[in-house]
Amino acid sequence: MNALNGNRHPTHPRRSRGNEALTKSDSTVNLAGLVPSPGDFPSLPRQASNLVGALSRAAGAAISRRHFLVPPDIRLHRETICVACEENLAGRCRKCGCGIRAQFLRKTHLATERCPLNPPKWDAWSPHA
Ligand code: SF4
Repeated sequence: MNALNGNRHPTHPRRSRGNEALTKSDSTVNLAGLVPSPGDFPSLPRQASNLVGALSRAAGAAISRRHFLVPPDIRLHRETICVACEENLAGRCRKCGCGIRAQFLRKTHLATERCPLNPPKWDAWSPHA
């Protein structure tokens, strides 16, 4: 039980349930103030592979003159889902290792990317969908 909010994940002592108010600080520091360990995320080779795949898909979209970035409202919608997700650990997705909010380019910015869960919590985006 979290002394701060009394709302912890039932099977993972280091995860909050994610239905707290969504703020930028919540996405970058977990509510218990714990520091995640490298083993909480995919291996570095796996994360590198994920990054190369994401950039390749985005480049393919750009080359074929399709949208490769999502509009701000879609990005914000994705980030809101990620912040509330049980896989969010200290502002990073435990499934893919991606940062959830940042000023730099992230997976949530790329139209060709989707949440790695099955079924995904958010999907690839197209203006024609
Ligand atoms: S990408 Fe999917 S699994 Fe990862 S934090 Fe976002 S919603 Fe959760």
